[in-house]
Amino acid sequence: MSGPRKPLAQRRAEAETSASRAAGYCALVHPEGGASCTRWPHSDRRHIDHFNGRKQLGDASGTEWFE
Ligand SMILES: [Zn+2]
Repeated sequence: MSGPRKPLAQRRAEAETSASRAAGYCALVHPEGGASCTRWPHSDRRHIDHFNGRKQLGDASGTEWFE
């Protein structure tokens, strides 16, 4: 992946319309792609995708990032 990163505001807007958002998740997409936040909507900067980025089956959580 070498394309320009989408601005945060654009990714937030896309999250608003995503299926994950409809399911009640924060759904913000990871800056590098490949993950989206599966926490309930929150106001802090810590985002976690519980379903992607696990190093092995059974890890408590997946990809985590801050923005
Ligand atoms: Zn989030």
